[in-house]
Amino acid sequence: MEKTLEISKRRRLLLVPCPYQGHINPMLHLATYLHHNGFSITIAHTFFNSINSNRHPDFTFVHLNDQLPNDLLVSLDVASVLLAINDNCKASLEDILANIVEDVMCVIHDEAMYFCEAVASGFGVRSLVLRTTSIAACISRLVVLQLHAEGRLPLLDQGSMEDEVPNLHPLRYKDLPFSVTSDVSKMAEVILKMYNITTSSAVIWNTIPWLEPSEFTQIKTRICNQVPIFPIGPIHKISPTSSSSSLLSEDSTCLSWLHKQAPNSVIYVSLGSIAILTNQELQEMAWGLANSNQPFLWVVRPGSIKGSDGIGFVLEEFQVKVGDRGCIVDWAPQKEVLAHSAVGGFWSHCGWNSTVESLSLGVPMLCRPYSGDQRGNSRYICCVWRVGLGLEGDELKRNEVEKGIRKLMVEEEGRKMRERAMDFKRMIEECLREGGSCSRNLKELVDFIMSF
Ligand code: UDP
Repeated sequence: MEKTLEISKRRRLLLVPCPYQGHINPMLHLATYLHHNGFSITIAHTFFNSINSNRHPDFTFVHLNDQLPNDLLVSLDVASVLLAINDNCKASLEDILANIVEDVMCVIHDEAMYFCEAVASGFGVRSLVLRTTSIAACISRLVVLQLHAEGRLPLLDQGSMEDEVPNLHPLRYKDLPFSVTSDVSKMAEVILKMYNITTSSAVIWNTIPWLEPSEFTQIKTRICNQVPIFPIGPIHKISPTSSSSSLLSEDSTCLSWLHKQAPNSVIYVSLGSIAILTNQELQEMAWGLANSNQPFLWVVRPGSIKGSDGIGFVLEEFQVKVGDRGCIVDWAPQKEVLAHSAVGGFWSHCGWNSTVESLSLGVPMLCRPYSGDQRGNSRYICCVWRVGLGLEGDELKRNEVEKGIRKLMVEEEGRKMRERAMDFKRMIEECLREGGSCSRNLKELVDFIMSF
């Protein structure tokens, strides 16, 4: 009895997610997988975007005292928020670790919560980093860092934005991961700290090695310093059960609406958890969707429209034209939506989670990236994997939207993309099977942690 207790105590892991939706989801999928493999899980999370612990009764939750002032949060300056979190949360992580250090095998932290590495090593505890973007995004962030060090940011003249970045095919300068809300030197500081890992024992990556094979080879020598890499993607598929880790509540009524639609007829529209649109963009989206004559399911996140409550745009004229052909929700159960047979296309901002979710469910994409790694992901979707088409141009135009939707949903070009997307779905299913790359790498990760 005592021995069992001792073993179960020793198998505790302390996980520290970064408090944004696109980071919380992968960390909680990993937590669920590790819990099913015999580990006890403690999650240290911030008060900002706090995770609903009631939905995860198997885990223990503790709070990090982030002390983020409201004016910083409303500024939407992600780099400043991350710098503040990493400065402010050290003391509470030290208190947490001091209490459980005897039981903890290791700390697994999001790459953006880089302060955890030093805290863990101060207690003599091993730490692992979870990277939640693609490897290509990581490499292109390093290019941003280099450009910053050379004093070449903010970037160049408009002409050279279209040039390809040397050794980074197919990315152009304009596809590099710049932030639209944060100052470049603050962003560079975050990137530098995120990649300056010295005492980490391993890197866990939400990617699949064959999705970006040359990038995978490159990264081993560039930042990983001989530490093992565990590419365990697609991470949203690894947890046997899936309690939602959505910060907003999911409106599942859209599933009943989907049941009434014809196979592959619906375009699902969602721009993730952070992108902000102008009212003008919203109008162009609305009328492009209306004029396309395709059924659509559209997520209009509360707070996602600059200076508006988000639904004020629903003009009577638009509603009359669209009728039951459109369904608008605040937040959707995205993975269930993408898995629905009625969904034939995804108008996406190309966040990495959305990209991998769409690929793994065989849904081709209409790409309208906003910020960060989204432009680079869009470029891979359109030019490397060829499962999507881009809605480029600074200004969104309703006739371009209408054309793009029709191309993706009803024309030959879209049909071919859907076929290729279905090939990805099949290949991803293969890598999840016993002996496939994902399940092999997950087993190796568990063995690695058990060796501590
Ligand atoms: N998501 C969701 N419902 C929505 C919109 C998004 O559940 O209505 C989820 C989506 O499945 C993904 C995450 O939110 O897992 C968004 O992450 P992503 O990396 O795609 O974009 P971000 O929000 O970080 O820009």
